[in-house]
Amino acid sequence: MADHDVDLFVIGAGSGGVRAARIAASYGARVMIAEEFRVGGTCVIRGCVPKKLLVYASRYADDFEDAAGYGWTVGEPTFDWGKLIANKDREIARLEAAYTANLERAKVAIVKSRAVLQDAHTIRLLATGETISTRTILIATGAAPYPGADIAGLEHVISSNEAFHLPELPKRILIQGGGYIAVEFAGIFHGLGSEVTLVYRGENILRGFDDDVRTHLRSEMEQRGIRIITRQTVAAVEKVDRGYCAELSDRETVIVDRVMFATGRRPNVAQLGLEAAGVHLARNGGIAVDEFSRSVVPSIYAIGDVTNRINLTPVAIREGHAFADTVFGNKPTAADHTDVPTAVFSEPEVGAVGLTEGEACAQLPKVDIYKTSFRPMKMSLAARDTRAFFKLVVDGDSNRVVGCHIVGPDAGEMIQLVGIAVKMKATKADIDAVMAVHPTAAEELVTLREKALSFRREAAE
Ligand SMILES: Cc1cc2nc3c(=O)[nH]c(=O)nc-3n(C[C@H](O)[C@H](O)[C@H](O)COP(=O)(O)OP(=O)(O)OC[C@H]3O[C@@H](n4cnc5c(N)ncnc54)[C@H](O)[C@@H]3O)c2cc1C
Repeated sequence: MADHDVDLFVIGAGSGGVRAARIAASYGARVMIAEEFRVGGTCVIRGCVPKKLLVYASRYADDFEDAAGYGWTVGEPTFDWGKLIANKDREIARLEAAYTANLERAKVAIVKSRAVLQDAHTIRLLATGETISTRTILIATGAAPYPGADIAGLEHVISSNEAFHLPELPKRILIQGGGYIAVEFAGIFHGLGSEVTLVYRGENILRGFDDDVRTHLRSEMEQRGIRIITRQTVAAVEKVDRGYCAELSDRETVIVDRVMFATGRRPNVAQLGLEAAGVHLARNGGIAVDEFSRSVVPSIYAIGDVTNRINLTPVAIREGHAFADTVFGNKPTAADHTDVPTAVFSEPEVGAVGLTEGEACAQLPKVDIYKTSFRPMKMSLAARDTRAFFKLVVDGDSNRVVGCHIVGPDAGEMIQLVGIAVKMKATKADIDAVMAVHPTAAEELVTLREKALSFRREAAE
């Protein structure tokens, strides 16, 4: 081992890279990690964490309104975007310092530089031109916003990266995209008082989620006043006197103060020296790896968003940990990518785990669907017309719950716990055997008695 400068060189100090570096170091490996931007990566600096803080901020608007039904008189609330962003930035700086301190405590050497591969065992640091020889390389470079086709005026368009640092809250914003980042930012800006138009090229928002969830969320968002335009794209953006003019594919024009694209993310694989090292890409554009996150080059591994498997922080962390266990802990471990629970912090929130109804019907001979939609109790004294939605997807042969989909307050918190039951292969009978917690919204899950639908492979009932 001593023939190399280090045992492990990690490129990228994001969720996955930091975990892998710390665990490898705990096994006694000499570890160096390079970060070209800020320690913490996307999740901490410009992803999950700042986004959730903005989501919290945006939800006060409804709370102030709803309080009246509960007897409160609230003065005219005012909102200060500059204060929110400054407070958010302070919290992110604190987290970045904590991540750095944890790496230092684990005796991981941090280099603030872009790092590229020179060959299968050599890293070049662009800040200094220095080369480092290493036994193993872990590529954990994440992904970046992808704006799509090069339309006229693309230079006026912001991504989620810039949305976290706008000098002022836009009065009107157009967001293009239908994925979770687009709908989350639509909810954030709407809650904070912006007029929001969401433009999506597909038939409905949240592709890949259960169809009932997509329909329910869309109608809830529209009811709150977000304009959702589907089957259209932004064809051009022009700077005009009063902001920006976005021209849609059907020629409609929308004048706004900001245009944001949340049209997907692409793995950070460019100019990384992958060809020089012999690393291959997969068809999904990410680095091709096996179940142990090993690339075709035996000394080079890749984890997290750069592999474009399931692009979520806990998945990147789990993959990073599994890599370190496998390579430095003598415990070969493959990260398990099945039944990953996930949340969309839209307004209202979405939680999902396992198969959608459509997926289950395509994969299983018999499928039973249980679902309900109801007005959350908190709304009974608030003059807000909103409904929660719960669905259980059950394998009709084994009675196993193979999917759960929730739209409503705290759906993200609920789905984390339902995820345990689904992972343990709970059956519908197991769920039914659980006593309800009353009065809660979650109790609806254990009181779903009537089958809403029953599919059989040959013919749907
Ligand atoms: C707006 C937004 C909201 C999100 N919300 C959620 C959420 O609610 N829940 C969730 O689970 N996930 C969420 N995600 C996804 C989550 O942030 C990512 O899945 C996660 O950060 C991936 O971790 P990673 O380690 O693969 O990469 P990253 O965290 O992206 O880290 C990669 C790091 O590598 C650095 N880097 C890249 N190239 C080089 C180089 N050549 N040399 C040195 N450094 C380099 C980058 O600067 C970056 O810091 C969100 C993402 C975004 C954009």
